Amino acid sequence: MNGLMMDKQLMISSILTFADRNFPDREIVSVTADNPSHRYTYKDCFSRTRQLANALKSLGAEFGDRIGTLAWNDYRHLELYYAISGSGMVCHTINPKLFPEQVAYIVNHAEDRVLFVDLLVWPLIEALQQHFSKVEHFVVLTTEANMPKTQINNVHCYETLLSKESDQFEWPEFDEKTASGMCYTSGTTGNPKGVVYSHRSTLLHAYAGALTDATAPRSVDVVLPVVPMFHVNAWGIPFATIMVGAKLVMPGPKMADGETLQYLMESEKVTFSSGVPTIWMALLNYLQESGKKIPTVKRISTGGAACPLSIIERFKHEYDSMVIQGWGMTETSPLGTIFSLKAGMEDYDTEQVTKLQSMQGRGIFGIEMKIVDEDNNSLPWNGIDSGALKVKGAWVSNSYYGLSATPGDPDCPVDKDGWFDTGDVASIDEHGYLQITDRTKDVIKTGGEWVSSIEIENAAVGHPDVMEAAVIGRYHPKWTERPLLVVVRAPNSEVTSDAILEYMKSSLHKLSVPDGVEFVDELPHTATGKLNKLAIRKMFEDYSFE
Ligand code: AMP
Repeated sequence: MNGLMMDKQLMISSILTFADRNFPDREIVSVTADNPSHRYTYKDCFSRTRQLANALKSLGAEFGDRIGTLAWNDYRHLELYYAISGSGMVCHTINPKLFPEQVAYIVNHAEDRVLFVDLLVWPLIEALQQHFSKVEHFVVLTTEANMPKTQINNVHCYETLLSKESDQFEWPEFDEKTASGMCYTSGTTGNPKGVVYSHRSTLLHAYAGALTDATAPRSVDVVLPVVPMFHVNAWGIPFATIMVGAKLVMPGPKMADGETLQYLMESEKVTFSSGVPTIWMALLNYLQESGKKIPTVKRISTGGAACPLSIIERFKHEYDSMVIQGWGMTETSPLGTIFSLKAGMEDYDTEQVTKLQSMQGRGIFGIEMKIVDEDNNSLPWNGIDSGALKVKGAWVSNSYYGLSATPGDPDCPVDKDGWFDTGDVASIDEHGYLQITDRTKDVIKTGGEWVSSIEIENAAVGHPDVMEAAVIGRYHPKWTERPLLVVVRAPNSEVTSDAILEYMKSSLHKLSVPDGVEFVDELPHTATGKLNKLAIRKMFEDYSFE
């Protein structure tokens, strides 16, 4: 027997229509390249979003087309999120800070038909444009007065496009499993891989994010997402906050600027903000230097990398703000676990609470997780055993865009029983709190960007005096993690670390050039002859770039 409930599809556009009816006057404040202080209401935003949906049609974009965005956190990017997905197209957010060849690869792999580009990112796209195979239109996110001069055909001004369109648009309803968004991850080896979100996964994720024990944005909140909209939907904030009617404050290109963040937090009375630890470090340093305060900010969510204890303590003791750490990935939309206290912990003292905050949080309904040993046997949740972290859930990837492998195939990140291998190693304590302890994936995350250790090792072994090289990530106070190169010199060589690094600079992006070199007589290997990264990390577990 079936239930007798309506078969209403979960549509991203429904967030917008609900918010339009219920919170029309709520504000959205943005910093943009062409306006340091833009301010309008939800009502204005949704009216322009409908104009944009009409503009997409006028450009010839169709249902299912991938539409790329290279933009910061601001109101135009928000309009793009809703107009593209709401029309049944796929909002493909691209990180403008990636290496240019990665941007070209990603745009081509996704077969983007239109690219919407921030004014500040335009020079990168103009330089790359002949490498794009399928892009038919470029739209610069600015006004006619600020349009860059260009020789390229089919370059449009965003504001002019919108001004020609009606603000009447009927949002279509279609299968909720339809792709709504796309984000490539470099957090795996090989080329970046396309994670594809659906309307269903996005809505369920937004509901989960709004749970009281998750990020819990409320209508009365003023939310400042510092986590970029080009990365995993700014952790779902553009959906969860609009769903509840919170005021949104967006820092545009000034994301890493402590002064701008403090200014926005104080002047707009921000109550809740989200970002990676590197951003919080920049903000704390600015607050210390300037003596300024963030009086209304009560909750700071952090993720993407382990949050140093000092950040948690400084926010708590000096600014009365609670740090809420979560763990997630591009492939998990990203919400996987998040900090909150459980019943029975009401009497915990500050030290006990801080210890829990420095872990990666606990599970939320919708994500199942387990840790397994090398033979895929589940390990107990005792806070001691650690193993590969696997997850399952309605907002977890089942595969990557264009990958023919299906669950169970060796190339697919999902095993035959439907568990996604995160590439993280973790323990889980008896209360369900997660502690990430290591990584099996051979990549290093530095200031929120991934670099491939294999690429760095290849660059190092090109030096004639390097017999073998291994790269591991080690703690860095500013970048969270930076690459450390471990080298076995060629026989009789006395090559110096400076000489090796100088040599590597010619073939590597500066983000990938290691911060340090250590020499060893030999490197440990696994039974199959591969470098044993777990053992090498153990050898240098006390090494840090402090
Ligand atoms: P990305 O897909 O680029 O967002 O990166 C996801 C990866 O970042 C995870 O698989 C972890 O390796 C790492 N990560 C995310 N959150 C945390 C956290 N709170 N602590 C430690 N590592 C994290």
